Amino acid sequence: MASPLLKPCLSILKYMVDSHSVMLSPAKNPMINYLLRRTIYEHFCAGVNETEVRRTVQEMKALGFKGVILGYARESIAKVEETDQTQSAVAKKEALDRAVDEWKQGTLRTLKMLGKGNYLAVKFTGAGPAAVEALSRGDRVPPSRIKEAMTEICEAVAAQGSRVWIDAEQQVFQSAIDVWAVDLMRKYNRNEANSPVVLNTYQAYLKSSTATLNAHLCLAQKEGWAMGVKLVRGAYIAHDRRDRIHDTKADTDRNYDHIVESLITRQNPLGGEAGQPFPKVRLFVASHNGESVRKACALFRERVVNGLPAIPVEVGQLQGMADEVSLGMVGGVADGTMPGVFKCLAWGSTEECLHFLLRRAIENHSGMQRTRETARALRGEAWRRWVGEH
Ligand SMILES: Cc1cc2nc3c(=O)[nH]c(=O)nc-3n(C[C@H](O)[C@H](O)[C@H](O)COP(=O)(O)OP(=O)(O)OC[C@H]3O[C@@H](n4cnc5c(N)ncnc54)[C@H](O)[C@@H]3O)c2cc1C
Repeated sequence: MASPLLKPCLSILKYMVDSHSVMLSPAKNPMINYLLRRTIYEHFCAGVNETEVRRTVQEMKALGFKGVILGYARESIAKVEETDQTQSAVAKKEALDRAVDEWKQGTLRTLKMLGKGNYLAVKFTGAGPAAVEALSRGDRVPPSRIKEAMTEICEAVAAQGSRVWIDAEQQVFQSAIDVWAVDLMRKYNRNEANSPVVLNTYQAYLKSSTATLNAHLCLAQKEGWAMGVKLVRGAYIAHDRRDRIHDTKADTDRNYDHIVESLITRQNPLGGEAGQPFPKVRLFVASHNGESVRKACALFRERVVNGLPAIPVEVGQLQGMADEVSLGMVGGVADGTMPGVFKCLAWGSTEECLHFLLRRAIENHSGMQRTRETARALRGEAWRRWVGEH
């Protein structure tokens, strides 16, 4: 990932993702499947079935992580998939329903691989064309089959003592995702014991993110439910409307750190009256940026050690990314003064993971400097162990 070869490999991967050729399909061409698995799949993905995933989860726990977040990588792309014009309305509806059912079964299967205290990651577009169409139209209520599937998923998550987070996606889907996610938080984040069960994702690179989060906090406070906040910078800068994204990386960084600081110190990010009531909030700092993660951990620790009001905080990075940041924290204080550290895993067949893998490659390419730092840290650690053992 830190090599100059990444650029041409990225172009090949992009071509492969968009291609309908049998020769380039990992599901149909064993050679392509093998190549992808041995290069990027095994670095970034947890496995293709339960046995492989459970092994990876055990490995993460053995490394000292508090837990994992597991997601089924299957997803749809922004354009509504081509439908066969000759198909009858009934046949089309059956195909849409089948996609939702497959997604629900895959998600429930994913949940079964997790234990108590771990997170399930859900991507609405994974439910297929019905979800993609409804989200791009901005429907405020999901199609009934998706709504029923989410009810079943959230109830199973709550019964198991796990949590579920809803991934943020491209802007064309995001306003509807926010509405659907707030409805789930309103319904499932009222039980005191394990609340919040549902977390929504906020993308700090969006100029509107602070206002959106502020509005949701006010709603939660007014209606008496708990907010689950997963904070990311945002992964779709290459595909999305640029004018809605902060003009510079420094602006995104500032906004990210400002939201973290406001939440940990129990303030609305847009400010407000002193002593204004603040809802119950849980924050998940999802970032590979060592600076942001360290600031969040230091502030949380300072508040807890000094007996100041704070909120529960957890931090996490994706599998195969910023391992030096994650592993540098797992050995932290185990007395509750440091946030728990998680690793976020994706599972699925090589074909199902292609879009996820492409995003990881793009991210490593645009953050080449950090990727090089990770490579340097890994080489340093390998040397330390080798020298230590000889
Ligand atoms: C556990 C986990 C879960 C995630 N889930 C999601 C998700 O559900 N939805 C999602 O969209 N992303 C998700 N991401 C990815 C995330 O949004 C970022 O793309 C990624 O983590 C890189 O950002 P960073 O915070 O690690 O820090 P950095 O690498 O320091 O920041 C890179 C990010 O800064 C922003 N940026 C870069 N250049 C500019 C610029 N010129 N102007 C403005 N902003 C810029 C972009 O958001 C870019 O991704 C997740 C990441 C993690 C670790």
